[in-house]
Amino acid sequence: MGEAYIFDRDGTLIEDRHYISSPCMVRPIPGMREKLIRLQRDGAKLFIVSNQSGIRRGYFSRERLMEIDRHMKRLFHPVRFEATFYCTHHPSERCPCRKPSPYFLWKISRIYGFSPDRMTMVGDTHRDRMTAEAFGIRFLFVDEFLSL
Ligand SMILES: [Mg+2]
Ligand SMILES: [Zn+2]
Repeated sequence: MGEAYIFDRDGTLIEDRHYISSPCMVRPIPGMREKLIRLQRDGAKLFIVSNQSGIRRGYFSRERLMEIDRHMKRLFHPVRFEATFYCTHHPSERCPCRKPSPYFLWKISRIYGFSPDRMTMVGDTHRDRMTAEAFGIRFLFVDEFLSL
């Protein structure tokens, strides 16, 4: 059985722009696409878990988020992401899914049948690290991941 890699989006897959609100703001992190292609060739399943509170804050619409999502995935072609989970809530809503809640990690584990010892989270912030720790899975900062 292969491994699951779960990626943060902003600052990890693409450059962080403080609320990416348009497809033209999407710039893949250098070297990431090639790295993902190799990982996928080795049998890994790739996932995205991202907080996008800009929706509830009114900075951009859900349709816009999906446009950005599609554009990003075109830029990463032929990489295939198994599933993408966006938390679009505002922090004050205290939803169950916003990182550092490990809710989406738990969901990936349950739906796709990955035990925590076969899951790795890759991110750029301590919040991502806390998310991984809360579910007891390995965590790599994006620089560590790219230098593997
Ligand atoms: Mg990030
Ligand atoms: Zn949420």
